[in-house]
Amino acid sequence: MGNTMADTMKDTDTFQSTLDKTFSQLARVGEETLSMDETIAVVRSAVKGSKEIRQSTSFFKNQLAEAQKEIDRLRETLEQANEEALHDALTGIFNRRAFDTEIDALAANPPPKGFCLLLCDLDHFKSFNDTYGHLMGDQVLKLTGKRLTDYCRDGIKAFRYGGEEFALLVPNRQLNGACRVAETIRASIDKLVLKDKRSGKKLDNISVSIGVAQYEKGESIGTLIGRADSLLYEAKNLGRNRVMPIA
Ligand code: GH3
Ligand code: MG
Ligand code: MG
Repeated sequence: MGNTMADTMKDTDTFQSTLDKTFSQLARVGEETLSMDETIAVVRSAVKGSKEIRQSTSFFKNQLAEAQKEIDRLRETLEQANEEALHDALTGIFNRRAFDTEIDALAANPPPKGFCLLLCDLDHFKSFNDTYGHLMGDQVLKLTGKRLTDYCRDGIKAFRYGGEEFALLVPNRQLNGACRVAETIRASIDKLVLKDKRSGKKLDNISVSIGVAQYEKGESIGTLIGRADSLLYEAKNLGRNRVMPIA
């Protein structure tokens, strides 16, 4: 594109000087110092110059159209890359990076009624993988991600926080309200059933433990996550497949 532009500029300069020369020669036609043959030669050279410039600008126009198409393609690719950078490849839901950005934004500018964090961790997932295979484990993660997005309304957002851990950010809810959301999610994951293609067996032993914490004005994100994590740990210790604190 740059080369074409430079070439066209060069052609335009050449054409400009041809025109200048032609006009000064044509002026001599009026002063009758130019013979008929010389006049014809001047006109011929002007016509030749204008043909060349027409060719050059038409080539430039085509190149410009091509460049525009390329710009559109690149813009699309960039938008896609930006989208992908915020999403988890396996589950398709938002990733940890998106979580970090979102929770920073919420803490910097909390919604009128504050917000809560849910940390969800699949129970005994290592042994699930060991028993049914990593691919089945991946299916569970995908299904869990899908299930969580069902609850993404009223500003709620779901994220894959890490391996078999998910996070939800729930704006404008007090702790009690967020715990009710968590309980609904827990119950819905508990109902998940997967079919093991190898054995034909139905797998219904999928469950999740959830720790819920409400953001306290002025606290750091680390502290908030730490509190949710401790509650998640408590839920695990109390036997898993439960929400802490109890609403
Ligand atoms: P707990 O109930 O205490 O949470 O036990 P757990 O087995 O779920 O916890 P642990 O941290 O011991 O194991 C997490 C497992 O999650 C181990 C790891 O292989 C699995 N995991 C993490 N990411 C993926 C993934 O992308 N796909 C699959 N299939 N498994 C994953
Ligand atoms: Mg874990
Ligand atoms: Mg786990």
